[in-house]
Amino acid sequence: MQVHKLMDIRRMYKSLLHSQNNIVQSTDLATACVCENLFKLSYPYGVISGKEDDFVVADTVHEIMSLIALKIVPEHWKYGATKDEIEPIVRSIELDSESIIQQAIQKTRDRVQSEGRRNKPLDHNFEYDIRDRVYGILTGLTRRIMKKFECPNRVVTEITITNVSKFHEGTVDAIFEYQDKQYGLVDWKTYDLNPANGSGKEKWQLLANLLLANYRYAGNEDEWTNCLFGSIIFYEGAFVPRLPLTEKAILKIKKERQFAYDMLCGFNPKPERPDFCAVCDIAKTKTAEECYRYHQESYLAKIGQIPADYDRVRRFTLATRYKICRERGETYRHKFVISQMIQEYGEQEALNLLEYAKIIHRNYRFEKVVDGIENNSESLVYLVKKDSADKQFYLEPRKIVRIIRKEDNIPLLACVSKSVSIHDAKPHILTVDFRRYTALQHSIEQLFYGDPNSYELIVIPDEINLTRRMLYPLHKLHRLAADIMVPDFVFDNNSVTSPSSINGVMNGVRS
Ligand code: SF4
Repeated sequence: MQVHKLMDIRRMYKSLLHSQNNIVQSTDLATACVCENLFKLSYPYGVISGKEDDFVVADTVHEIMSLIALKIVPEHWKYGATKDEIEPIVRSIELDSESIIQQAIQKTRDRVQSEGRRNKPLDHNFEYDIRDRVYGILTGLTRRIMKKFECPNRVVTEITITNVSKFHEGTVDAIFEYQDKQYGLVDWKTYDLNPANGSGKEKWQLLANLLLANYRYAGNEDEWTNCLFGSIIFYEGAFVPRLPLTEKAILKIKKERQFAYDMLCGFNPKPERPDFCAVCDIAKTKTAEECYRYHQESYLAKIGQIPADYDRVRRFTLATRYKICRERGETYRHKFVISQMIQEYGEQEALNLLEYAKIIHRNYRFEKVVDGIENNSESLVYLVKKDSADKQFYLEPRKIVRIIRKEDNIPLLACVSKSVSIHDAKPHILTVDFRRYTALQHSIEQLFYGDPNSYELIVIPDEINLTRRMLYPLHKLHRLAADIMVPDFVFDNNSVTSPSSINGVMNGVRS
């Protein structure tokens, strides 16, 4: 092993400025496509939009779909399904999925209760809501996708794809794989019953994810030849854009990706408000109110109308938020190093070097799921060394790692994978925790299927991204300071958030 190559790894780790290791998630990129100001409200301002109450339901429906789309949906696939066949197909999928649905509902109930973080119990419609949304998604899938496309050879779900060279990452709900490396991509819209029109965010997210799917199968985000379809499945329907995408749409995604990256890295690009303000011109949302307040405040700061005491607090919270965004890049440092090594030496040699440098770990195979009753946990798995003579181990309990199942002809960071925490590390056995029962079931189907000696598992370092959790309290602090220190001066909670008032402030800021 050449020493200079190992030195290269060290040099890369050192030379990567954490502020520039940032990666833009498809969901955030979609926000920037809707409105750059809206993105700035999330990063760096830390405003959280969305319906939190609905999140548990949407999350559980996602978990259910991620499991039943793998095998049960293809088993019931009927190409060209007629109108009369839709209902029976959906009911038969539901019937075969009953135990998965029941388990997912029960595990969510248990989790919400044990975490105790919601101060109100789950809505009494919780189970009905979940079943109804699963029914709606399956109907949309059968009516639009099954009708038009043949049964896929394989389905992968909840797959995280990272294209480091384009600083882009996203988790795709499902990809349907066909012969000759053809594929179709599907996102489930589980958080409400409306079609995918609203602000347009879901559509942008789908288009951004299509670029990632192109990267997974062709190694190039601009290679559309084998992409059969992309779709958002919503309640009893689907949005299926015409492919290939227009040049204008692709350019827009790339422009906003650069904007989001620059913002996260702290280069502070100037956001532009869209000509038509898709959020605030349609509905007076909470986010629109925050947009108005922050713009009003920066305008007043610019003309020197902010009291000095409050201005100090304001500057402090803003500076801290920008710093947190830059440090978010630390989360992705390992992926940057792995990707750069692969670019420099090719995948095989880079993996050998990274393994030798103890950055990645390769000698493990899936052994078994750990008995939940004995261990008081339902999400543990044993991975054992393939070579029992190898007694060295370098992983420590509580570290977060990503387990990748290497797939042929697919870039390493686009292969199926799952983030886990290390529960215990011994010379032969690594015990990993998938944190949730459903995540473990999903991994058994997608990561650990087949003869454990016939595929390779690669363990890479990973981190949990806590940026949003750190930014939100600073946003609250900022608001609290305004309410206490300048209660009547700067903001009025019932302030008019009409487009004309926002325009007035925006014009003031621009002038
Ligand atoms: S209120 Fe308008 S300008 Fe502000 S974030 Fe919303 S869409 Fe953008």
